[in-house]
Amino acid sequence: MVKKVDKSQKEEYHFERHHFYLDKHAGKQVCAWCGLVALRNKASDWCVEKGCNYKLHNSYQSTMRKLTKQFDF
Ligand SMILES: [Zn+2]
Repeated sequence: MVKKVDKSQKEEYHFERHHFYLDKHAGKQVCAWCGLVALRNKASDWCVEKGCNYKLHNSYQSTMRKLTKQFDF
């Protein structure tokens, strides 16, 4: 399979700290910026560590594949 990558649209990863608040309905920490829900698993920990731009990180795809096969955004 060939993936088309439009390099002009590719953003650069840089660290941006999450802005978590407690979602009282869910009872979980949710980031106000990127919407990440902080769960107690390694995939979630990795996303928390990398900040709001975690999806732009070079190793995002491979890390998610490694940590879980059921990580659903
Ligand atoms: Zn965030």
